[in-house]
Amino acid sequence: MKKSGTASISRKGVERWKNGHPWIYAADVESVGDDVQGGDVVRVEDGRGWFLGQALYSKASKISLRWLSWEDGPIDAAVFRARLEAADALRRREYPDDTAYRVVHGEADLLPGLVVDRFGDYLSVQFLHAGTERRKQLFVDLLAAHFSPKAIVNRSDAHVRTLEGLTPEKGLLFGELPPVVTYREGHVVLEVDLLHGQKTGAFLDQRDNHVRASDFGHGDALDCFSYAGGFALQLGLKARKVTAVEISESACAQIGKNATRNGLANVEVVCANAFDFLRDALDEGRRFDTVVLDPPSFAKNKDAIAAATRGYKEINLRAMQLLRPGGTLITASCTHHVAEEAFEAMLDGAAADSKRRVQIIEKRGAGKDHPVLLGLRETRYLKCFVLRVL
Ligand code: SAH
Repeated sequence: MKKSGTASISRKGVERWKNGHPWIYAADVESVGDDVQGGDVVRVEDGRGWFLGQALYSKASKISLRWLSWEDGPIDAAVFRARLEAADALRRREYPDDTAYRVVHGEADLLPGLVVDRFGDYLSVQFLHAGTERRKQLFVDLLAAHFSPKAIVNRSDAHVRTLEGLTPEKGLLFGELPPVVTYREGHVVLEVDLLHGQKTGAFLDQRDNHVRASDFGHGDALDCFSYAGGFALQLGLKARKVTAVEISESACAQIGKNATRNGLANVEVVCANAFDFLRDALDEGRRFDTVVLDPPSFAKNKDAIAAATRGYKEINLRAMQLLRPGGTLITASCTHHVAEEAFEAMLDGAAADSKRRVQIIEKRGAGKDHPVLLGLRETRYLKCFVLRVL
């Protein structure tokens, strides 16, 4: 009979745990109590039965244990409420004038398997672990009490749910959802479709970078992989003309609506594959003063890194070639499998091949509402470089 409510981990696992990594993989779990279910909070012990802390257990995932505490004692509603409040306190301090931000960024906010995005009076939530899925109603109650939102939307239709043995799902969990929800980024107002938009409805991690992009809007601007136009609209505030390239038809329609809402008649939407668009634009001899590249993750796992890097290089090389001398390239990558050093090395190669000299003006990441947890590199996934192409 295995010890009730506990998970015993190997020496290698103990080493990881003590080094602060909040994940213990299945290979490093030696035994779990017979009564332990996926989603339980378990006591973590070493081979001799010494207590190491508490973690959220997953039966299906390769990541068996996710750190919750170094200490003993109940992990209950009061603990989750305190973590939620601490997470929101950071956002309120950093974004005192805003009402759209990521409230909870999973383990980086000590709430593994939970993502909460706030768009004004509306919340969009992802339950990405059996532990948070099972406590869904508890989190809905806590969020409703803390924010008094008009609605809470469940966007647990993310692929990672399947790795946890959960089926993707979405729907309204609380309140009523109007047809259009809006939020502000700097001087721009964006519409977000919380039920049908990508991910939680919008890519809030790029919000500070969107606003920063407005400083570089001039002449002819190009925003590739535009989604709802987060970058395109900011560029449009200052540029003569912006071309927003996006492959999804519903996203293209959203860019058009957002441009109209903000009175920006200078945003042209091109519904196309950005790889083809960049190649054709070069063939046609077109030139731009500012280019933004913000593609989806090209590498979902380690095996895809080489192909992803080739993809990044292709678009960055073409963007550099398309820029007029002195032009700005804002280039992002959201895959943690390609670390910042590797991303910069890829840019070295693209600059060399483009026969242009390129300066790094700024290295940016996700906004402060997407904190990075030391010990968990996966939380440092977004790179966004501002380059000047001479
Ligand atoms: N730049 C956006 C987020 C981009 S997410 C923002 O800041 O809000 C990536 C986007 O690229 C998605 O909208 C997706 O539909 C689009 N996309 C994916 N593959 C594409 C391709 N080959 N060409 C153009 N767009 C693509």
